[in-house]
Amino acid sequence: MNKIAVLGGGESGAGAAILAKVKGFDVFLSDFSTIDPEYRQMLDRYDIPFEEGRHTRERILDADEIIKSPGIPDTAPIVATAITMGIPIISEIEFAGRYDSARKICITGSNGKTTTTSLIYHMLCEAGLNVGLGGNIGKSYALQVATEHHDIYVLELSSFQLDGMYDFKADIAILLNITPDHLDRYDHNMQNYINAKFRITQNMSQEDCFIFCSDDEITVNNLNRIVVKAQMLPISQERKVECGAWALGGTMHVEYGSDPFEMQVGDLPIVGRHNVYNSMAAAMTGKLMSITNERIRKALCSFMPVEHRMEKVLSVGGVLYINDSKATNVNSTWYALECMKTKVVLILGGTDKGNDYEPIYNLVKEKVKAIVCLGVDNAKIHRCFEDKVETIVDTASAEDAVRAASKLASDGDTVLLSPCCASFDLFKNYEDRGRKFKAAVRNL
Ligand code: ADP
Repeated sequence: MNKIAVLGGGESGAGAAILAKVKGFDVFLSDFSTIDPEYRQMLDRYDIPFEEGRHTRERILDADEIIKSPGIPDTAPIVATAITMGIPIISEIEFAGRYDSARKICITGSNGKTTTTSLIYHMLCEAGLNVGLGGNIGKSYALQVATEHHDIYVLELSSFQLDGMYDFKADIAILLNITPDHLDRYDHNMQNYINAKFRITQNMSQEDCFIFCSDDEITVNNLNRIVVKAQMLPISQERKVECGAWALGGTMHVEYGSDPFEMQVGDLPIVGRHNVYNSMAAAMTGKLMSITNERIRKALCSFMPVEHRMEKVLSVGGVLYINDSKATNVNSTWYALECMKTKVVLILGGTDKGNDYEPIYNLVKEKVKAIVCLGVDNAKIHRCFEDKVETIVDTASAEDAVRAASKLASDGDTVLLSPCCASFDLFKNYEDRGRKFKAAVRNL
């Protein structure tokens, strides 16, 4: 086998193409839209042929294997044809994993991946280990495997990346939670999405470790069905666990080995019940990596929230503005609302991925005084919430939304951008939405 076609010329595609080239394959990269100049230059530097704005079928379908970017669905015509022809299609992570003997810590879940991945990376760096960060975050994993050396990788894995993974094995796998998301890519079948998430455990053996949330009903129900060979390490905020991590009554514990870890939840700089789960997963990983309790505590205490995740922007006129633009599904907004201690003006809306808003009805009734819709089509939000809050207004830009929210909020309230939805109707992506929100707040 020597011909590889790479579909998608973004961070993961360009990195995969470079690794393939370095490993001696005959590589061709194809992107149906335009390729960023930064990636074009990288491909040129490695003398990798590529095309943009089209997919030349003959060249792509002539490959022995295709590496597909996670953003491209299986229904894209070129992918559908390749599947029919039986050409193996894998993800960048699967490909890079073949050439990497580092210890791999892999994180997935519907929510909390980036926070937990960043937290673990921060902890391992602080402990002085030679660690790389990759997957759905930062620099391409494949590019790092091609050009750098690390003893350990911390990899954030989305369900789309996991879909293209077959022989890859995590040494430590973390499954934070499973709630409905991206169902449009899974034939609107929740079980398909659940199965994708559980691929993180495939190929694991008794020497490996699986950290999972034992409070998450979907995870636990599926664990009764799926055989995981790795050592099982639950995390919980509902009950004490014997081997794993738990937090009750404001204290977090990790029970593992002879020196249990303990710290006060109130000392964590990242707030909210969800971040206690994320911190427990990180502390548990720290124990597995033989990091001292003192270092684990220091790392957890010095970790700052990642941008766009419950990020405190500014207080204006006694009103606190929080940017949680990354909350692109109902469950993450649930956690955001759950930790609110004041009345909230909630900025909601965008591209609906088939949302069921029911889980947040009670929190909205209890804490939200007004909803500001920030989206092109807000009809569903009106329909779902008109009998739950007094005021719902429509806006179509971050500036308008912030202005409207500032009029509706009074001294002591919080304006929370936690939209439950993707951002593509009005913004480039959730980062663009979050930055425009922050700029608008600063201009108030
Ligand atoms: P992901 O990378 O999985 O999208 P992030 O760490 O970027 O997750 O967080 C996205 C949003 O999800 C945050 O804004 C936060 O409100 C919420 N969140 C974070 N961690 C969790 C968790 N463990 N459970 C539920 N929601 C969470």
